[in-house]
Amino acid sequence: MRKKVIAGNWKMNKTVEEGLALATEVANITKDEVPSDVQVVICVPYIALAPVSKVLNSRVALGAQNVHQKESGAYTGEISATMLASVGVSYVIIGHSERREYFGETNAQLAEKVNIAMAQGLTPLFCCGETLQQREQGIHIDFVNSQLTESLFHLSAEDIKKVVIAYEPIWAIGTGVTASDEQAQEMHAKIRSHLASKYGAAVADEISILYGGSMKPDNAKGLLACKDIDGGLIGGASLKARDFISIAKSY
Ligand code: PEP
Repeated sequence: MRKKVIAGNWKMNKTVEEGLALATEVANITKDEVPSDVQVVICVPYIALAPVSKVLNSRVALGAQNVHQKESGAYTGEISATMLASVGVSYVIIGHSERREYFGETNAQLAEKVNIAMAQGLTPLFCCGETLQQREQGIHIDFVNSQLTESLFHLSAEDIKKVVIAYEPIWAIGTGVTASDEQAQEMHAKIRSHLASKYGAAVADEISILYGGSMKPDNAKGLLACKDIDGGLIGGASLKARDFISIAKSY
């Protein structure tokens, strides 16, 4: 059975104090209300990782939003996978479209990030997704497949099973426009069959594929009911504990 994951991406929001209050609320409600087969993750700003790790319980995993691809050294302002692991991080978002767009992260760099994260035992939450223009041109499936091929397909079958993939159509992120259940399911099925073409159906069947892009309490149920959607990566709605948890309870 595939792991169900509901992950929040706080992006560049919340002071440490505000983050501690939100994380405490998420941890308490998750413990009381979220079924134990749903893994809740919160991906918080770097500065909040260490303090937030102290207020989480065993039901909520700690995630980072990025990691540098090198082990250590003269990379001013960057954070390594070893540093993340040392404060209790277990998940890390890699390849979010905002990092690809604003920080020029390439598929080749992301492959290195995946490797260094996994070497530290972190689970990559690997993001892929197309622009509206690519969808309108009908090249969205090939584009997403190439993101996966170039950043993940060097992994062994054992290792790819440890990665969580998040399909996030760029036109749906932070826009209030969600992919329809059918559009999302179609792409998730294509991603799974692309994984199967490289690793075989049995391996592809074990890989969790999350949907991200304006997922909210009122549209989560339909999306999460789709056969190939195994959870969500949630931006805006993860900033309110009740909204976030109501998505986690939508299964
Ligand atoms: C995201 O940034 O990963 C995301 C899905 O954001 P939002 O839910 O706000 O669209």
